[in-house]
Amino acid sequence: MPAPSRPTPVAVPGPDTPVAELAGVGPGKAAKLQRLGVTTVRDLLFHLPRRYEDSRDVRPLRELRPGPDPQAVRARVTHISMRPAHRGRRMMLIEATVEDDGARASVIWFNQPFLLREIHQGDELLLNGKVEFGSRGLTIKNPTREHVREGTLHVGRLVPVYPETEGLASRWLRERIEPLLPVAEALEDPLPPRVRAEENLLPLADALRQVHFPDEPALLDRARERLAFEQLFLLQLAVQRAKRRRLAGVGVAVPYRPEVAQTFTSSLPYRLTNSQRVAAYVIFQDMAAEGPMNRLLQGDVGSGKTVVAAMAAHMAHAAGCQTAFMAPTEILARQHHATLSNLLAPHDISVRLLVGSTSQKARREVIQGIAGGHDDVLVGTHALIEDDVVLARLGLVVVDEQHRFGIMQRQRLRAKSAVMPNFLAMTATPIPRSLWLAMWGDVDLTDIREMPPGRAPVQTDVVPPHARADAYALVREQVQQGRQAFVICPLIEESDKLEVRSAVQEYERLRDEVFPDLRVELLHGRMPAKEKDERMQRFATGQADVLVSTSVVEVGVDIPNATVMMIEGAERFGLAQLHQFRGRVGRGSHASWCLLLQGSPDEEGSARLRAVAENQSGFDLAETDLRLRGEGAVLSSEMRQHGFPNAGVEDLLQHGLMERVSAAAGRWLDQDPDLSSHPPLTARMGRYADVYDLD
Ligand code: ADP
Ligand code: MG
Repeated sequence: MPAPSRPTPVAVPGPDTPVAELAGVGPGKAAKLQRLGVTTVRDLLFHLPRRYEDSRDVRPLRELRPGPDPQAVRARVTHISMRPAHRGRRMMLIEATVEDDGARASVIWFNQPFLLREIHQGDELLLNGKVEFGSRGLTIKNPTREHVREGTLHVGRLVPVYPETEGLASRWLRERIEPLLPVAEALEDPLPPRVRAEENLLPLADALRQVHFPDEPALLDRARERLAFEQLFLLQLAVQRAKRRRLAGVGVAVPYRPEVAQTFTSSLPYRLTNSQRVAAYVIFQDMAAEGPMNRLLQGDVGSGKTVVAAMAAHMAHAAGCQTAFMAPTEILARQHHATLSNLLAPHDISVRLLVGSTSQKARREVIQGIAGGHDDVLVGTHALIEDDVVLARLGLVVVDEQHRFGIMQRQRLRAKSAVMPNFLAMTATPIPRSLWLAMWGDVDLTDIREMPPGRAPVQTDVVPPHARADAYALVREQVQQGRQAFVICPLIEESDKLEVRSAVQEYERLRDEVFPDLRVELLHGRMPAKEKDERMQRFATGQADVLVSTSVVEVGVDIPNATVMMIEGAERFGLAQLHQFRGRVGRGSHASWCLLLQGSPDEEGSARLRAVAENQSGFDLAETDLRLRGEGAVLSSEMRQHGFPNAGVEDLLQHGLMERVSAAAGRWLDQDPDLSSHPPLTARMGRYADVYDLD
């Protein structure tokens, strides 16, 4: 293939100049940059360092000492040569001798033969590297180097180190980015000058200069603050604007009728907890208001969210509205269908079920019943989203375990009605407050922090590999007392198939070797829905003692007689997931256990498992998770899930910044509601608006 003709490097690049046209960027490098999402000069300026090497402390050569930390020196080359590292091997060594004020040291570089062309006898160098005492005296190994005459990009300053990328060395990036810094002056700053002044933030060009080549640590902090502020500010504007629009828009109003609520609660076999009462009240107020409700109900497994949702459906029904109730799995949808039927049928509300495995004939009937308005509540999985499912009087949408659905799926369900229905999401995986503020600010939040009375906490233990027998003994003892146990098989990310195979093996091992006298059942995600259901049913009705399963039992499954949750390879699961598993037991009046079997004993994994053992509440656990993983990491991953490709706030986010940003965005919207008064800001809103605006 002929080499593509190379454009002559542009004399004066601008923000939109393709990187491929820059001096020193060949087609190969350009392709590598592209893989990082960098195609223009602007992109390159926003390719931020991951960390910095501090070599500001340049010492005289005579102060050099062997030690583990890199040391920076300035010295003159008196000799440089190359030889093979070992006889007959290809690896080449560059050896140099450097001197300064009578002191002398050796320098070794491995496999960088080109250095022989770049460094010559008599050159004055800045070097930064680890120092050892070897056969040739003090030796600096593989140092970063720079000629003194060239100024300081690589040594003698806070040196930027960019995220590891095959074939794109930090050194190369520094040399490309530094000459482009003046271009940053031409970038339009999306932050309005007023916001910048009020928040005392650096101008964009200064921030970019300082984040790549900081003059001092304090300026680096301010640069990072400014860049994170900008991203979060745009996000907040989109989120808060969406909320203001929603509240000003027209939705299905469901009048609040206290006597209707009263009828429902008096039909319950228990008293609502205070949390449930407050949550229901807030939801009634939301539904009665002109603008549509958009609320997230957070509460631990077993805190009784479903009955609150049922109250809302009951109130909606009294106003002549239908309710759609969506759950992430078929097992869960069936369970909700049963629960809601129990709760609502006494009030003459008909509840129907629609899932993937519903037969064509049954499906037609359900769809007709709902479209004709004979049926009132439709419970199901993604199957509800299909176009031919029409809910003419849809007034309330409930989505359980909402984080398991994509934004689009949730929106399609809401869009089934001509008028925006009220939306209630539920989750047992609480969102930490700062994250909620950042990403979910258009959603109102209600917590159920109280559990129904009489629930004993689940005793949670981390079980090291050598104590496995104790875990089995507990299972056996519980079964002998008439209880049941779950065994969760390790998560295998790469392949469904492998996961199923390992679950089958574990099942056979437990059935044949460990518990030959017990009734062991198997459940995994690849079984046909009907079979899953039957097996689940056998376990639920006490025809099996031990249920070996993959993570399909994660959410919702309600089996009050189960008292042991044993999780193999526990460190492979996320904290929220482990907490969900734990929520499968402790649902009856018996004492129960959650055993976290540790597969591999690593530090980080242990800390996470301890956190699960120490925190009974999902709210506390979410905060701990945030602390362990870092606010920025959690926020970045959430942003990526929302489709923001450059969600690089990970390393930038500083404590308390989110609150400031949120307040600033609110003030800005007060005086610029349609975001038109600062054009560079308007121009940047597109992507954010796409994610948040429903219309
Ligand atoms: P969640 O969906 O929040 O995990 P559920 O709604 O499934 O919890 O409720 C868990 C169990 O607690 C159910 O069996 C439900 O009947 C019961 N329950 C709910 N509220 C109360 C209450 N106030 N008092 C006693 N039991 C309750
Ligand atoms: Mg639930």
